[in-house]
Formats: sequence, C-alpha cells, structure tokens
Amino acid sequence: MQFHILTLFPEMVENGLQTSILGRAIQKGLIGIHAVNIRDYTQDKHNKVDDYPYGGGAGMLMQAQPVYDAWKAVAKPAEGKKPVRVLFMSPQGKTFSQEMARELAQEKELIFLCGHYEGIDERVIEEIVTDPVSIGDYVLTGGELPAMVMIDAISRMVPGVLKNEDSGVTESFQENLLEYPQYTRPAVWHDREVPPVLLTGHHKNIAEWRQAQSLEETKAKRPDLYASYLDKK
Ligand code: SAM
Repeated sequence: MQFHILTLFPEMVENGLQTSILGRAIQKGLIGIHAVNIRDYTQDKHNKVDDYPYGGGAGMLMQAQPVYDAWKAVAKPAEGKKPVRVLFMSPQGKTFSQEMARELAQEKELIFLCGHYEGIDERVIEEIVTDPVSIGDYVLTGGELPAMVMIDAISRMVPGVLKNEDSGVTESFQENLLEYPQYTRPAVWHDREVPPVLLTGHHKNIAEWRQAQSLEETKAKRPDLYASYLDKK
C-alpha cells in the first residue's frame, strides 16, 4: 500500500515512520512512504508558500497554488482513472477511528494533505480533498503528526505487517469492545498473581474469561462504546 504525504516538513514524516514494525513493513515492500515537499511546487521566486489571510486575523495561510500542483504531480488525475482519495488532516474533519483505519486499508494508495500555520486556502481544499479527517478535538501545529498516527493505524491492517495476523483482530475496538487484560512471565510479580485460568491451558475457559473481561473493561472504562456494542449485538 502506498502512502503519499503532501507536507512542508517531509523529513518529519519520513523520520517518524522508519522504525520498528512500520520500518520492517517498508523494507519488505508491504507499505511505501512517499513524502512530498509542497515547497518544491511553489511558483514564487522567493520559495514562499504562505500569505496573510484576506480579511485579517492571526497567522499565515498556505496558498492554493503549491498545494494544488503538489497534489497534481502525485495524483496524476486523468479521465477514466479512479481518483486517489485525498485525506485532509483537519480539526474540522470526521474523527478518525479503528473502523475508518480498517476501511482505508482496503485502498491501494492514499494521499495525506498536511496543513501548517493557520491552515490552507479553502479553495484548494474544496477542489482536491475527498475526506477531511481529525484525530481528536484539540488543535495541533500541523497535520504531520495526525498523518503519522493514521498511517500507523492503517498499516497495521495491511496483511503481513503484523507478525501475528490475529493481533489485529483480537485487540481493542473490535466489535466495539476494549481488549481484555494481558499478562506475561513471571506468574507472580510484587505478590500479584496472574489470573489462574490463564495458566490452565484450557482454551475454551480462557476464551470465555477474556470475553467476560472485555465486556467488564468496556462497561467500566468506555460506557459510550459499550452502548454501541449492545446496539449492534
Ligand atoms: N485554523 C485551523 C482551525 O482552527 O481549524 C487550525 C489550523 S492548525 C494550527 C494547522 C494544521 O494542523 C491544520 O491545517 C491541520 O492540517 C493540522 N491539525 C491541527 N489539529 C488537528 C487535528 N486535531 N486533527 C487533524 N489535523 C490537525
């Protein structure tokens, strides 16, 4: 799966995604990270990519032209060709979720558009963006961290990226439930024992215990999620 990231800070995205599980996935060719510097596409002779907002107000806005030309170079829009989805990182977008990660992982290619400063001229957003997405109700300095968060979550859903395919299926948010508590060696630590059922090797009992714990955890920690679980059941 190919991720194109349109940004003014390509090194931030490239450096942040090269380690651990995603680093291995890149080396194996399961995912590709293509960071595109929007500044490379400016037609301004001083390499400027931003300007003051019309009507006044704080800060600077990224201009439409360099963003549009960077998008055009990557998306290569053509008649009869399925357009590549453009995800605009924006506090005004739909809130990112595990369900969205699963759905986006079905695409072969995605383009992430990262704003910076006060954001981007609305006209180019209207022209190229298909999905405005927020990672939560707070404001960050740029879209690079949100893009990295999303690429991480989506990549985990790409077959082969996780060593154990099951781990993507059994963890939190599957069927609107949080994951059950997990334990590893030693069996006793600081006088705390691992729940005895986990040491029995009895798969059916373990599965039942885990399901009951999932329900308890979700009910206690995320009553909103628990309500959705009951709704969909
Ligand atoms: N003026 C904008 C507003 O009030 O909606 C905020 C601009 S923010 C300082 C700069 C950029 O950071 C945005 O264009 C967006 O790309 C990114 N950003 C900030 N918070 C975000 C969030 N919660 N989710 C996704 N992107 C975010």
